[in-house]
Amino acid sequence: MTPKSDRPKRIIGLTGGIGTGKSTVSHYLASTYQLPVLDADIYAREAVEIGSPILSAITERYGSDILLADGTLNRQKLGQIVFSNPDERRWVEQQIHPYVRAQFVEAINQLPKQTVVLVVPLLFEAGITDLVTEIWVVYCSRQQQLERLMQRDRLTLEQAQARINSQMPIEQKCQRADIILDNSSNPEALLKQIDAVLKTR
Ligand code: ADP
Repeated sequence: MTPKSDRPKRIIGLTGGIGTGKSTVSHYLASTYQLPVLDADIYAREAVEIGSPILSAITERYGSDILLADGTLNRQKLGQIVFSNPDERRWVEQQIHPYVRAQFVEAINQLPKQTVVLVVPLLFEAGITDLVTEIWVVYCSRQQQLERLMQRDRLTLEQAQARINSQMPIEQKCQRADIILDNSSNPEALLKQIDAVLKTR
């Protein structure tokens, strides 16, 4: 393991609501500032790969109908279950969050001492705040969030609402932020705020 003193000093926890602009921010931080980005969604996908204990647990709970013909997880079907049933969502999250957390810890330990960005949609919900040294929340209005989410993921209004409602309200996330990036205007305005933050911090 890398000695403690060589671990990254500055660990930015980038969060927000679904569709508020986290990926837009993280792509910019990676491309313009060459910052290493670790993404919770990638680990969450890894967690349920074929042969994983978590995929077995999910199959045991919901039956083999939850799998596609090739044996991979039918995400759409799981989405229908968890976004209409909070208890099931919590159960699935309890399976996946510890794996995601462990992957973050391992990856952080392997990176040299420098700034690193953790993109974590459920930073607060999954209790990952202790891994980061500062929290950035990307904000936009609920109406904008709905519209952007429906368009990006081709969801109906009801589906988009269910996904947004399953998360902590964005206002509560903003209250716990060190930095709020306001993405209620155009992307250029968002990126300018990032430049300003990195100039002063
Ligand atoms: P997240 O990663 O938080 O889910 P994204 O960065 O993917 O959000 O943004 C959600 C969608 O909204 C994407 O399709 C993105 O291109 C679009 N988008 C992001 N910022 C803006 C903006 N300021 N104005 C219009 N569309 C935006």
